[in-house]
Amino acid sequence: MSETYQNFIAGKWADSASGKTFDNINPANTSDVIGSFQDSTADDARSAISAAREAAPEWRALSAPRRGQLLARAARIIERDLDRIARELTREEGKTLAEAKAETSRAVQIFDYFAGEGRRLSGETAPSEFGRTLLYTVREPLGVVGLITPWNFPIAVPAWKLAPALVSGNTVVLKPASAAPLTALNVVKALAEAGLPDGVLNFITGSGAVAGAELAANTGVAGLSFTGSDVVGSGIYACVSGRGGKAQCEMGGKNPIIILADADLDKAVNLSINGAIWSTGQKCTATSRAIVHKDVAGEYTARLLEQVAAIRVGDGMDPAVQVGPVIDEVQLNTVLASIEAGKEEGARLAAGGGKMTEAPLDQGFFVEPTVFVDVKGDMQLAQEEIFGPVLAVIAVTGFEEAVQVANSVRFGLSAAICTSDISRAMEFADRIEAGLVHINSPTVGAEVQVPFGGMKASSTGTREQGRVAVDFYTQIKTVYLEY
Ligand code: NAD
Repeated sequence: MSETYQNFIAGKWADSASGKTFDNINPANTSDVIGSFQDSTADDARSAISAAREAAPEWRALSAPRRGQLLARAARIIERDLDRIARELTREEGKTLAEAKAETSRAVQIFDYFAGEGRRLSGETAPSEFGRTLLYTVREPLGVVGLITPWNFPIAVPAWKLAPALVSGNTVVLKPASAAPLTALNVVKALAEAGLPDGVLNFITGSGAVAGAELAANTGVAGLSFTGSDVVGSGIYACVSGRGGKAQCEMGGKNPIIILADADLDKAVNLSINGAIWSTGQKCTATSRAIVHKDVAGEYTARLLEQVAAIRVGDGMDPAVQVGPVIDEVQLNTVLASIEAGKEEGARLAAGGGKMTEAPLDQGFFVEPTVFVDVKGDMQLAQEEIFGPVLAVIAVTGFEEAVQVANSVRFGLSAAICTSDISRAMEFADRIEAGLVHINSPTVGAEVQVPFGGMKASSTGTREQGRVAVDFYTQIKTVYLEY
């Protein structure tokens, strides 16, 4: 019998009022049920919001450095349990254990970084026109914030929302994605063990359309931070801002890597595989378009295909495996449908393209690493996020066309260029429509101390991580003190 996990409301573990649960399944082996989680109702969400509201005055009154100390304690607990947390992450999400450990370490860094923010959460002072007046600003918390997170970074995304939300003095209701709720629960347990007062962090699992939608609609939630698909994010943004709440939605990408004729081609191939195939392509920053100068496109593609053919796909627990499964059957079918659509619109399938059916891979949701060539920039394959291990190679005549193709999508999250020409690289940084720019590095990867987020349809404009992350979770008060 697998374990049944509960919601965490007002410091107590509780079943959902629905009396229903859903199963969390290992995507590498669907007969492995990790556990049952609460299928929460709107009433459960309202209880969690009430608990957060009750805990708010005391939490806000605790000084920011003290709040930061609790985050630092949670960082040590996650570090202590890193191996177990990473294993559970791989088991429920599918990425390799090495990737899961790196992501869990990232969560530790995030809590440590924002622990320090407790001592830096400052405002500004300004000279007053009137003399004998102290003119200054302070940051105040929003109140109760709702956090809705995706499954693909099940520890990093909850951490990079929770840490700035809590250090800023907000109380929280967290609803993780149903495909990977155990990892988020591990973070909640670490914060509870660190001594977070009851009600400051509440955790509910269940359907986005029910429990998540209540967090968006409920006027008791002053701010809502969401990461996920652009379809869901746009709806949430309209709902929260429509009722006068503050919303932050971080969404998908269609990230390009440009490879100029002077690029180091072996490096370009490594960066492409790193961005497109590792983590099964299930990153918002995953590379999904390689925009290559026509003079080197043949050689680049030949070297790329040679390396893709050697990639080992399988259960992420196996240290020899480089690529795990996609998250579930819905995602598997979405990826396969995108591949079929690519073939139909005339792109040429050069590698992969199918579900992997040889035992034991038939037990999970495994897709072959896939490369398309002869792709045109306006094909669906080159326009829509796929969220799987699929790379589209687009040949272009030069730098101008490369930048034009790179920018001709509705998303603008991350973009990379591979070149040895520093002037071209800097011009690319100036002209690319993306929130994250990489020069001779992959589209993926982010350091906690700098802002992370996209432009265009990838984001509603605020940034996460880095010092600016607290901008969303705070409001500014200006004080005039005449003496
Ligand atoms: P998703 O939009 O399906 O779900 C995200 C979360 O929203 C889940 O917790 C889900 O339960 C909830 N949800 C669904 N419908 C809802 C509703 N109507 N109201 C409220 N909540 C609702 O996304 P996903 O499949 O979990 O994640 C993959 C997506 O996330 C990709 O598009 C990826 O690019 C994006 N992503 C973006 C970033 C970033 O920082 N920009 C980071 C990671 C992932």
